[in-house]
Amino acid sequence: MEFQTSVAVGEDVSPRYLRRRFDAICLAMGAGEPRDLPVPGRGLENVHFAMEYLAQQNRLNAGDELPPSERRIDAKDKIVAVIGGGDTGSDCIGTARRQGAREIHQFEILPKPPECDNPETPWPLWPKILRTSSSQEEGCNRRWSVLTKRLSGVGVRVSELHGCDVLWEKNRDDWRMKEVPGSEFSMKVDLVLLAMGFTHVRHAGMVEQLGLELDSRGNVTVGEDFQTSQPGVFAAGDAARGASLVVHAIRAGRDAAAAIDRWLRNQRP
Ligand SMILES: Cc1cc2nc3c(=O)[nH]c(=O)nc-3n(C[C@H](O)[C@H](O)[C@H](O)COP(=O)(O)OP(=O)(O)OC[C@H]3O[C@@H](n4cnc5c(N)ncnc54)[C@H](O)[C@@H]3O)c2cc1C
Repeated sequence: MEFQTSVAVGEDVSPRYLRRRFDAICLAMGAGEPRDLPVPGRGLENVHFAMEYLAQQNRLNAGDELPPSERRIDAKDKIVAVIGGGDTGSDCIGTARRQGAREIHQFEILPKPPECDNPETPWPLWPKILRTSSSQEEGCNRRWSVLTKRLSGVGVRVSELHGCDVLWEKNRDDWRMKEVPGSEFSMKVDLVLLAMGFTHVRHAGMVEQLGLELDSRGNVTVGEDFQTSQPGVFAAGDAARGASLVVHAIRAGRDAAAAIDRWLRNQRP
């Protein structure tokens, strides 16, 4: 029995075509929908999602040329603000540093975590403590509990970030954020990179066209066998789990492959 395992470059990969051509499909598309910053000035030039910036630099590193329609996002000699204090933010810092940024500032909306023990995450929970990535070690100005309120520009290009400090207060099980009166600040910026996490898999395209059920967080719903609401369509990794870690994606990939193998064997005598 012969199995088709790939499609050639340039071949039509519409969901209808995939359904016709393959017995099983596994979606491993990641959680590509970035969390946006819905503030005035978001539409100014030089305000980009982190992945627009990082993926472009990766393509350049690989020797690709940018298409004429795509503008180079370059941090050289710029004052860079990275909004978001996670792994993606760290990658932006490292990339901006290598491109020769003049200053790099990183703003995280959550409070600074404790440096050693965190009573909020006792053993055996994963300790939420202050971590410093190698990119952050290379040099950047890190600030916590900062809310970006708006961006302003000269002409169409971003030139200032306006923010304030915030306080987090616990109200039963919920955390409430309060702006600190009088803490408003403005600073000059030339490039703003939005690295505030990812909400879920991209719905437009494959997920919508296949008519897949989503969970309350917008991820593709799968059963224990990694099968989605459509028979023969499977999903694994961040697409089903939400933005997570490489180790989880590797594990899910292996388990999904085994589950699909079992399912295929049951389909064919
Ligand atoms: C900037 C950044 C930094 C990170 N840093 C870390 C870290 O330091 N440590 C860690 O453990 N995790 C990190 N993560 C998380 C980690 O990368 C993910 O959890 C993991 O890669 C998820 O694997 P995946 O295979 O599910 O999806 P992904 O690795 O996201 O792969 C999905 C792939 O599918 C492609 N794709 C999407 N739609 C389609 C389509 N319609 N057709 C064809 N292809 C499509 C995408 O282009 C992408 O190549 C980071 C994530 C990001 C974005």
